[in-house]
Amino acid sequence: MFGLYLHIPFCEKKCSYCDFYSLESTQHIDAFVETLLTEIDLRGVVRATRVDDDRATRGVAPTATSVFFGGGTPSLLSPDAMQRIVTQLRDRYTIAPDAEWTMECNPGTVTPERLAAYRASGINRLSFGVQSFTASELVFLDRIHGAAEAVAAMSMARAAGFDNVNMDLMFAVPGQTMETLAYNLERMLILAPDHISAYSLIYEHGTPLFARLKKGLVTPTSEDIDAAMYALVIKTLTDAGYEQYEVSNFARPGKRCIHNLTYWHGENYLAFGPSAHGYIGSTRYWNHRSLTAWTAKVHTGELPEANRESLNRHEELIELLFLTLRADGIPRESIYELYGVDLRSVLQPDLSYWVDAGFIIDDDATLRLTGEGYRVCDELTIKVIHAVGDVHSDLTPSETRA
Ligand code: SF4
Repeated sequence: MFGLYLHIPFCEKKCSYCDFYSLESTQHIDAFVETLLTEIDLRGVVRATRVDDDRATRGVAPTATSVFFGGGTPSLLSPDAMQRIVTQLRDRYTIAPDAEWTMECNPGTVTPERLAAYRASGINRLSFGVQSFTASELVFLDRIHGAAEAVAAMSMARAAGFDNVNMDLMFAVPGQTMETLAYNLERMLILAPDHISAYSLIYEHGTPLFARLKKGLVTPTSEDIDAAMYALVIKTLTDAGYEQYEVSNFARPGKRCIHNLTYWHGENYLAFGPSAHGYIGSTRYWNHRSLTAWTAKVHTGELPEANRESLNRHEELIELLFLTLRADGIPRESIYELYGVDLRSVLQPDLSYWVDAGFIIDDDATLRLTGEGYRVCDELTIKVIHAVGDVHSDLTPSETRA
């Protein structure tokens, strides 16, 4: 798997809880598109060296299997702008004919014409930030749409030919009850999205919501209720036929998000746009988190990276364990082949207990969490990382994955 991520840093209005980089004004969106096209060009040159080197060392062909437009609100891009970006990507990169092309959309910003145009340009998956169907919760979160817009957006998406649609759902919103969460789930299931991402509200530093929390203006949901809500989400969605394949993600069979799996499997991806993070070979980079700084750098002909760091083999292994346990399972056999770590023996006696207690399934190739296991994922992750860290800390930074 190999992904391309594009960050579109504009929103009509900032949501109180959001710490993604985005600007409330779309004044500079046309100039942004021109600069983005240039960055795609610049990184296309880099691809000829770095990614192909990576292919040589890892046996991975740099054919993109997914393209993801995130943000921000990519649905603020005009269809013409989207078409130009898609064309530029196709010109500069090898993209699989059946690649997944996702675009995040705010239900308050779509029209039938726009969705049809995005579909015609090659976008084949939509992700709607629905969050809730309860008016007071949407107001609390500062969303620009109501429940009716979410319903209309799904109907427009289906009419435009999208057969792969995600909806985001938020729980543990102050004021939310088990009843309103059940209602939100029920309303969402009526719309039958192909994929659901369900997140507990996080109080991110630097957001208006965090400031309100610090001033005592918000009472967060208690840990017990948060846990009960998460259990309700898992039960409701799995009972409805969705497979849980990550702590927060549920999919109809065959509709898992390829782009997210690229992240969670520790695979490579290039990223474009202000604040975007990429991962090539064993090196992570992140672009300037400022439209001005990012633009200035691209205009001088340089990659707009604020910084980059290389992972040594031990860090790579720990990250892989962390990511895969939270997702569709630690590839036990691959870990042994790549790093020489026999998890079945390193994790004893805990592993036997976790299997007996129904937290983990130890099958032929993977160690993967059950629904019960996802509920205690953080605790299990810490134990796995400590156990492996104790036996695998002697590799030098210069070693690379074979
Ligand atoms: S629309 Fe999405 S990206 Fe924009 S502020 Fe709200 S949550 Fe953040």
